[in-house]
Amino acid sequence: MPSDRRMFLSAGLGATATLASCGSALTTAAQAVSAESSSLPGDVSLDVEVRAAAAQDFGRLIQRQPHGVLRPASSADIAGLLRWAKDQGVKVAARGQGHSTYGRALAEGGIVVDMGGMTAIGDIKPDHVVVDAGATWRNLLDATLAQGLTPPVLTNYLGLSVGGTIAVGGIGATSSRHGVQTDNVVALDVVTGDGRELSCSATEKPDLFDGVRAGLGQCGIVTRATLRLVRAPERVRRFQLFYRDLPSLAADQRRVLGEGRFDQLQGAVLPDGSGGWRYQLDGAVFHGSGSPPDDRAVLSGLSDERSAAVIADLTYRDDALAFGKFENLLRSKGQWSNPQPWLLTFLRGSNAERIAADVLSGLKGDAVGPFGRISLYPLLTRAFHTPMVRVPDEDIIFVFNLIRIRPSNDAATAARMVAENRTLYDRIREAGGVQYPVGAFAMSPFDWEVHFGSGWPQLREAKRRYDPGYLLAPGYNVS
Ligand SMILES: Cc1cc2nc3c(=O)[nH]c(=O)nc-3n(C[C@H](O)[C@H](O)[C@H](O)COP(=O)(O)OP(=O)(O)OC[C@H]3O[C@@H](n4cnc5c(N)ncnc54)[C@H](O)[C@@H]3O)c2cc1C
Repeated sequence: MPSDRRMFLSAGLGATATLASCGSALTTAAQAVSAESSSLPGDVSLDVEVRAAAAQDFGRLIQRQPHGVLRPASSADIAGLLRWAKDQGVKVAARGQGHSTYGRALAEGGIVVDMGGMTAIGDIKPDHVVVDAGATWRNLLDATLAQGLTPPVLTNYLGLSVGGTIAVGGIGATSSRHGVQTDNVVALDVVTGDGRELSCSATEKPDLFDGVRAGLGQCGIVTRATLRLVRAPERVRRFQLFYRDLPSLAADQRRVLGEGRFDQLQGAVLPDGSGGWRYQLDGAVFHGSGSPPDDRAVLSGLSDERSAAVIADLTYRDDALAFGKFENLLRSKGQWSNPQPWLLTFLRGSNAERIAADVLSGLKGDAVGPFGRISLYPLLTRAFHTPMVRVPDEDIIFVFNLIRIRPSNDAATAARMVAENRTLYDRIREAGGVQYPVGAFAMSPFDWEVHFGSGWPQLREAKRRYDPGYLLAPGYNVS
């Protein structure tokens, strides 16, 4: 296996008439802003380059030019902007690290709130930390590791902002044990769509807490989060195992998941370089420096092609940052800045192998590109409690993500893949699957109603209460 490809160890990379009519009753944001530019809050930048940077995201599939960009220093700055925006009927989108793939942090003719200046990390306590929402998980991890602590769930890529993943959920390799990142949020400080600065938790304004966690930024801009911490392992022993086919990969994944054999479990279907696929299980065991696990015991009874197995032992930090090497590789090849038409979904455990095989059989050879992958691995859902995180209602589900890394910036191919994402989403949804809401294809307000299912009335009510002007996060097209 080329070492370049090996670097991509763990990219686990998942309407109502009422809302719609309220949204459409607004004058267009662009008109409102240009008419009222003179009254713009003072710190909003109208600089051409600043606006151009906020007009696109990692996906490079959608362009939406904002009228201005606010880089707040405090929650009060955001509250001032949102009160002004409410008066003017101007749309507002928070932007963390801009790693959305389909314009979710953009606001055509509106104001983008760039959270990059709000990154403070407060005192680190044995079981929690208070952090500004613009901080990246990388910076947070470095700070907590200095005290021997870690957030229980880390995304595979740590260059995402705390606020950006709270808006969608935040899946990681430990999610079977600890749920998603939003399950590990203790409390939030939020500026609501009508400019109120509120604190919320499971016991204080729980409707806001539940509407903000994984609520796609619809109810408020998170300014600060209190996050749970646990003791960090010292080292990670990582086992990459390879299989001839999908059934044998999935069988071993189910077996080790059921036994709790690994502390982290992921896996993927990878291009084999000659038009076919390789099947990879990626498991990790945490350990202290003097007590590595017995490899033979960890691997006993598994049906992988043992001579191909790759076993590595890393510090917890190096392992958590492994995706950074892959990012550097893609940057060096110019592929990090190509269009990224990704599709992220969860399949029902009861039909995952069948649906995954069906989708795979219909994909063209260039579906994910030479460095892309199809993440495929099972998760236990028992630790998932965030109401707005939608997954199939089964004990075991499968992550099924098309991480399409385009070798060129050919717009026509990217557009074809976005259209294909929609077709695949429809097929997966019909089979009981759910989108992890960061994929690259258009969703209508009705699609979101279907997506949120039984959670929809709760989100709709929280939106009405906390963003009555329907101004926040227009890029999702929820309202
Ligand atoms: C390379 C890569 C790897 C990834 N790996 C994972 C992974 O392992 N697990 C996973 O779960 N996801 C993963 N993702 C998806 C990622 O979690 C989401 O796209 C996330 O929203 C991006 O965070 P961001 O800071 O870049 O947010 P942005 O793209 O800036 O914003 C995303 C959305 O969140 C809203 N938002 C941002 N900040 C705030 C805030 N403070 N308050 C309220 N709303 C806010 C924005 O308005 C927007 O709607 C990955 C994405 C990429 C590109």
